[in-house]
Amino acid sequence: MKIRYSDEKKIFNIHTDNIPYLSFDMLDKMGVPNLYSTRYISYDEESGDGIKGLKLAVMKTDNIAEAAPVVINNRNELARLLRSDIRHECSIVQKHTNNVIVVTPSDLGPDWPGKIPPHRRNADGMVTDIPDALLTIYGGDCPPIYIADPVRKAIGLIHAGWRGTLGQIPAVAIRLMKERFGCDPSDMFVCIGPGICRECYEMGDEVYDAFASEWGEDAAGRVFRKYPGTDEDGREIKGGRYHLDLREANYMTVTKAGIPADHVAISNVCTKCNVNIFYSFRARRMENEQAAMMVNRFGPINSMH
Ligand SMILES: [Zn+2]
Repeated sequence: MKIRYSDEKKIFNIHTDNIPYLSFDMLDKMGVPNLYSTRYISYDEESGDGIKGLKLAVMKTDNIAEAAPVVINNRNELARLLRSDIRHECSIVQKHTNNVIVVTPSDLGPDWPGKIPPHRRNADGMVTDIPDALLTIYGGDCPPIYIADPVRKAIGLIHAGWRGTLGQIPAVAIRLMKERFGCDPSDMFVCIGPGICRECYEMGDEVYDAFASEWGEDAAGRVFRKYPGTDEDGREIKGGRYHLDLREANYMTVTKAGIPADHVAISNVCTKCNVNIFYSFRARRMENEQAAMMVNRFGPINSMH
């Protein structure tokens, strides 16, 4: 698959044998089943083309009764690629909060979109130590963050848009994993992304101001950069426009929370730069979203290709 990477690092493995997906090499090496889907239903490496339109999320513009069975079926097909299925799945209705829930056995099972119980309708992260539990997050620019502790055999999966990032949602999940599962951050591994890159992520001044007031000017200076910008009439905006680096911001949060720097893998794939391969909200609003999935299983090394 012809993905544009922002650097040469080996972060992902690409799988195109079935429904195409990316997996983090760091998690594959621990035998943790994980994926991030694409637009593709199938892809042929020889011709460099495939069938697009994989539907994994019910969008606001969809008719739920029509979209839900398709979405559930596709999600189950993806789960099976991780040797799981949606009877083990927990998902949430993401609201750009920094709320993280601890998954219980009764949370596991297929969710009919629109019928998710109230305690899972206002959260953007999940943590679990239930063996074989499957966590799913959706996104079409906001990076998912995968957390794994091979010692305590626990995982977390987070949706980190700018609001969740501002609220340091990965640190909330890490703290919960410490408190509830006895995890030690020095044993934990974190994978950030895929999602929108800094070049593609223009923000209003109020977002910079929010970070500057909550994180301090120095930290805000590290995660924002000014780029030339133009107004609606094409006139140059004096001083430019802020762009936010969600990867750097979440990297700062997780290392501050005690995750060793060499236990963090950072995506070099931008959903908007690769809009032909991934759904991107900023590039084309409301088409659909990718699924990020992760299974709480630490096994022998997965096949790597
Ligand atoms: Zn980009």
